[in-house]
Amino acid sequence: MSMIESLTLMLALIYSTSLLYWSGQKWGAIASVATLVAATVSTLYWPLFLCLVLAAAAIGVLGRLWPQWVNGEQRINTQREVIQHLLALSMLLVGIQFAANAVMLKMGITPWLMRPDVGDAFLPIAGGIEIKAIVTLGLWDQNHPAAAVMLTLVLLTGLLCKRAFCGWACPLGLAGEYLYKFRKRFIKSELLPPKWLDWPLRMLKYLLLAGLLYIIITMPTASLPQYLNGNYHKIADLKMALFFITPGLVTLIGFGIILGLAAWRRQGFCRYICPYGALLGLLSFLSPFKIRRNTEHCLIESRGMSCDKCTRACPAAINVHTQANIRSDECQACMRCISACPKKEALQFSTRNGIQLSGRGLIIMLMIILFMLPLIAYSSGYWVSQTPTEIRMYLIQHLNAIGH
Ligand code: SF4
Ligand code: SF4
Repeated sequence: MSMIESLTLMLALIYSTSLLYWSGQKWGAIASVATLVAATVSTLYWPLFLCLVLAAAAIGVLGRLWPQWVNGEQRINTQREVIQHLLALSMLLVGIQFAANAVMLKMGITPWLMRPDVGDAFLPIAGGIEIKAIVTLGLWDQNHPAAAVMLTLVLLTGLLCKRAFCGWACPLGLAGEYLYKFRKRFIKSELLPPKWLDWPLRMLKYLLLAGLLYIIITMPTASLPQYLNGNYHKIADLKMALFFITPGLVTLIGFGIILGLAAWRRQGFCRYICPYGALLGLLSFLSPFKIRRNTEHCLIESRGMSCDKCTRACPAAINVHTQANIRSDECQACMRCISACPKKEALQFSTRNGIQLSGRGLIIMLMIILFMLPLIAYSSGYWVSQTPTEIRMYLIQHLNAIGH
């Protein structure tokens, strides 16, 4: 595991442990620390120890300077934005390290910077095929094991807390937000499409998802071992990188449309294109936690007032103020509506029987799913690619000639 991955993981886990402690879940915090230390010790990997110590020191200093950050009393919108930016920065550094590793391989130099395995998160088809191999054959892939881990944990977030992954962690969603803001500096109007066009556009992402699922589902089970041990799969990450670095005309047009959609309307990429968003949207219907409006407290019903602050705050353009439960597949659990609501008890992110998840609770849940599972996977030997460097170095010289 690279230093960037190790440090991000440790910072996120120590931070969530601190939030657990300050939210009164002392036993939860103790269990989290015990799991963290046990998993770290079992790896016998010194950079993880170092990052554990550095992260604990950093959170300790943060607690001294800005205690509201480590006890979770910071405004939820600020917390979300900082978490999103830090994760995006981490992914940017991961991308730079991945590129440096690939350039050294291409030049025939044994890389002194390791390949960050978390980059396999960008191989959702490989991850899906690996999960299929595990379920049908009990076969665990050794070339890109992190792809299956990342896909599993992202799906888990969808099942438990709607599209919180999109709203709190995805770097592409954040990039789209900046594109949208940039466009708004020059063209102020919202440019929202009419409803008759919005719906078919939203279905585009489901079409893309259907295409990806088709590839995974129709791959014959008997051919899975051959595929997973084949040269194409061994360098699927490099193939993906090459696709983005040297796009053809059709790909460039596709990129142009994606960028245009992201700039055109807020969350345009998440809403219309992203197949990950589509998958999470479908799973989110099963999530026990939803934004729920309590009509006994909402100003509309309780005082007969006119209020739509929650709806105006929603980046996904959901009519929050007219519904009791937000079931929409576009809800990213961003909690902007809750922050905007003037009546504290009127809006909650809760289960049907009233179990609430505060902003602090959502961060803890997300951090534990997104980072504790990779740590356990790493300590169990199911994270780091076992493809020998010499083989990757050989295959990268023949990248264009290697097909499925
Ligand atoms: S309904 Fe609330 S939590 Fe869901 S996307 Fe809109 S503002 Fe965010
Ligand atoms: S912002 Fe709060 S009070 Fe106003 S409509 Fe929404 S839920 Fe009701």
